[in-house]
Amino acid sequence: MKYFSTRGGDELLSFEETVLTGLAPDGGLYIPERIPQLPADWRTAWAGLSFAELAVEVLALYIDPAELPRAELRALVDRSYSTFRAPDVTPLRPLHGRTYVLELFHGPTFAFKDVALQLLGNLFEFFLQRRNARKAPGEKRERLTVVGATSGDTGSAAIYGLRNKTDIEIFILHPKGRVSPIQEAQMTTVTDANVHNVAVKGTFDDCQDIVKALFGDKEFNAKHRLGAVNSINWARILAQTVYYFLSYFHLGRQLAATLTPDELTEVKIQYVVPTGNFGDILAGYYAKRMGLPIDKLVVATNSNDILARFWKSGAYEKVDSSTPGAGGATAPAEGSSDGKQSAEVGGVKETLSPAMDILVSSNFERLLWYLAFEALAANDAATRRGACDTVNSWMQSVKTDGRVQVPTKVLELARRDFVAERVTDEQTLETIRSYFESEPSYVADPHTAVGLAAARMIAPHNPPSTVQVVLSTAHPAKFSDAVTRALQGSAKFDFERDVLPSEFRGLLEKERRVIDVEAPRIELVKEVIERFARDEDAPAAAGASV
Ligand SMILES: *Cc1c(COP(=O)(O)O)cnc(C)c1O
Repeated sequence: MKYFSTRGGDELLSFEETVLTGLAPDGGLYIPERIPQLPADWRTAWAGLSFAELAVEVLALYIDPAELPRAELRALVDRSYSTFRAPDVTPLRPLHGRTYVLELFHGPTFAFKDVALQLLGNLFEFFLQRRNARKAPGEKRERLTVVGATSGDTGSAAIYGLRNKTDIEIFILHPKGRVSPIQEAQMTTVTDANVHNVAVKGTFDDCQDIVKALFGDKEFNAKHRLGAVNSINWARILAQTVYYFLSYFHLGRQLAATLTPDELTEVKIQYVVPTGNFGDILAGYYAKRMGLPIDKLVVATNSNDILARFWKSGAYEKVDSSTPGAGGATAPAEGSSDGKQSAEVGGVKETLSPAMDILVSSNFERLLWYLAFEALAANDAATRRGACDTVNSWMQSVKTDGRVQVPTKVLELARRDFVAERVTDEQTLETIRSYFESEPSYVADPHTAVGLAAARMIAPHNPPSTVQVVLSTAHPAKFSDAVTRALQGSAKFDFERDVLPSEFRGLLEKERRVIDVEAPRIELVKEVIERFARDEDAPAAAGASV
């Protein structure tokens, strides 16, 4: 299997190159040259597999065994998911009625990004080690310096994915004092020598601008081989397809306990996904296209609703032009590591589900490619290039005009597989309350609550045989402010007893390692990277410069 850029189409990359490159040089995102189909016997052969076993089966469909032999893939997958606390890795829990939650937050940082980043870290390390093992003595080792900015949500998942990895340094910038205490502690209490938390006196936007400037600095970039772990990396999407398959089997077993075989065959499965950069739900789209019987995928956004608006009108636009008095287009911001964009006028709204506060949705381009391809309705290399050209022109419009209107045919294709809903902060709080008070009682984090709220909005339009699986993307203790705000009026709610995991106790008192940067200036951050990018522990690095 080879990969190509959504804006290129001609050049084909191996899986390894795709993973190490991240974003294509032409600005596009890598996608597989075809979507593999499930083996004919998948329903029986895969039915009893564990998460790790299933991951090997699914990933092997996308990775040439000559590049990554099955036994090595198995070892990488085992290592990646041994860090999860739940035996099922991503357990499925029944709520009332025909609603289930797929809990994706049992990894080291209590958020769903662990599912992808635990694997990505091991893939990076594996490929670098293999390249370095092939080098002649004295030849310069390949190393990777991962740099990112975080407002708190995603930095820790990247850090836990890359901690203690050979030939990789990670620098995560956060705005000093502007990250929640738990999130700050989660990041800075990781004291591995290759992890560098950089506390910048400034805002999240300052941090992000610095990271963008570093990536734009060709000389510095080449010298340190900067790498990003943002959600556009193909391996992250691929890792996330696995839990759609696993939950399908879990759901089948749970439903078989209450439904007749006839009823079971009638069931329509809807996956409801709280969405920001469209990574998590895109993985579901791949699963569906591979042959997993998913009826509809539900895009659940907060009030940063560019995606919900797209499914209403076919316009992909940063600013809602249908609202009177809305401002003009804002300047595009690219290359961000949290996927967040600057909070300019008419920009990102701050919500109770901050991991979904985005202006544009970086992975959406991958879906646009498939829609463009299908709308062209042929199946040869010329059409592939045609789809790339179409995507290119759409993304150019977004860049220059802040918007693009896709043809009706494309919107119809998008509606075949997806439904979209927008959820306000008020609805989010109300949903947290109502699920806490339901039987069985469930404490949802605000992101999961966006999904639960969207599921409820859609439900009246569904056929009665529909079952909804809502993806739960974070542990409620990670977003304690919103959860406490929703539940403080409830006499039976006790944060410490009902929510706080034992791993979070004492976290604030643990030893920390953090590098302070006194002003948001790129030179100061460069100095930090120069000073802390270690070389000495690399076995063959004597005398080599990085
Ligand atoms: C990143 C994140 C999301 C959104 O995921 P996308 O793949 O960007 O759509 C939702 N919830 C939480 C808690 C997250 O960290």
